[in-house]
Amino acid sequence: MVRLSDELHFVGIDIGATSLTVAVTDGQLRVLGSASEPSDVRSGPSAVLDVAAALVDKLRADVGIDSFEGAGVGVPGPVSFPQGPPSAPPLMPGWDRFPVQDVLAKRLCTPVLVDNDVTIMALGERQFGVARGVRDFLFVKIGTGIGCGILLGGSVYRGMSGSAGDIGHIQVDEDGVSCACGNNGCLETYFGGAALARMATDAALAGMSPWLAECLGADGRLTAVDVGTAAAAGDPVAMEMTRAGGRRLGQVLAGLVSFLNPGLVVLGGGVAGLGHVLLAEVRSVVYRQSLPLATGNLPIVLSELGDLAGVVGAAQLVSEAVLRQQSPLPRSDRQAQPLRRATTRQSAQVPQKLQRLRWREVIPPQVISSQELSETPQVIPVSAQRVRTEARIRQMGQEPRDQDDFHTRVV
Ligand SMILES: [Zn+2]
Repeated sequence: MVRLSDELHFVGIDIGATSLTVAVTDGQLRVLGSASEPSDVRSGPSAVLDVAAALVDKLRADVGIDSFEGAGVGVPGPVSFPQGPPSAPPLMPGWDRFPVQDVLAKRLCTPVLVDNDVTIMALGERQFGVARGVRDFLFVKIGTGIGCGILLGGSVYRGMSGSAGDIGHIQVDEDGVSCACGNNGCLETYFGGAALARMATDAALAGMSPWLAECLGADGRLTAVDVGTAAAAGDPVAMEMTRAGGRRLGQVLAGLVSFLNPGLVVLGGGVAGLGHVLLAEVRSVVYRQSLPLATGNLPIVLSELGDLAGVVGAAQLVSEAVLRQQSPLPRSDRQAQPLRRATTRQSAQVPQKLQRLRWREVIPPQVISSQELSETPQVIPVSAQRVRTEARIRQMGQEPRDQDDFHTRVV
């Protein structure tokens, strides 16, 4: 890993279904400032991206920064990575194929990369959170919907078309209620922010929970936060909703754990704030249902970074891409597609600025791929080469002579 200068700055934008968070980081991805605002993703890309850009402008002024080297963006749906447009996202009407990358690049005057929000949270957790140093892990975001970020061998796994990890639409009951994706009985219809809000409202209206009924009367609506508050206060209906949701999630995760054998499972997102009641239920199901060999040394834990996981990961995503294009050092993944850049004078200056970087650390040996190693010329010692050549000559029925070529050579 190469660490960038503190003088560089990146932006991380985490667009959730009901809110968005923005952060500005330095070159080492330390958060210099962050801000959040409620924002309904269903209001469409133009409105949401306007709010995001305005928050970035405000942070830019607060932190005192003129320009950024890049902005990473997470959206709550499948993304055609690295081209950037969301692809038929169930929670995001009006966003399908919308050019988020181009619009934000022009608006912010900086290169932009867009990815799925769960993937960027996983990257953030690996950068500064509980998954530091873990190469194979799953990050499960439980927000309005449910998704899973997959890191295998230290790299993000997105699948062929970018939809890997969309576990919220794994069917857990074929006779279940209909889902926004058009199928029935998806995990998201049993658990996640939207499902909890719907079930809590039903319970309140049915008179099953005086606590939830009071919240509904006071606020006019219920959210997963209300369920968490009610559960923490001992409301039996809210506690059972949390446990039942945890069991459904655990059921899906047990299959994933048996299939992928990760070294860690991290639960994050707003609904993960339900905390240890949820965690205990998920652990119980996964440890009981997955293969013993896969769970023998498998921690299942809550996210350490919370709301900042997404913005840190978004900044990390774009910083790596910018760096990969500019690094003078050999890398195995140089074939990554170029970042789409704005055509402004400001962004056109980025390459020159990066060329002035002083690299603080060189790439350690482990980032050189096995393919590169196999392509690296190797020098065979004289003694070993001599033995091989003598043997070959004897196989041909001759005796080696002193003048035969025993010089070291490159093979
Ligand atoms: Zn579904």
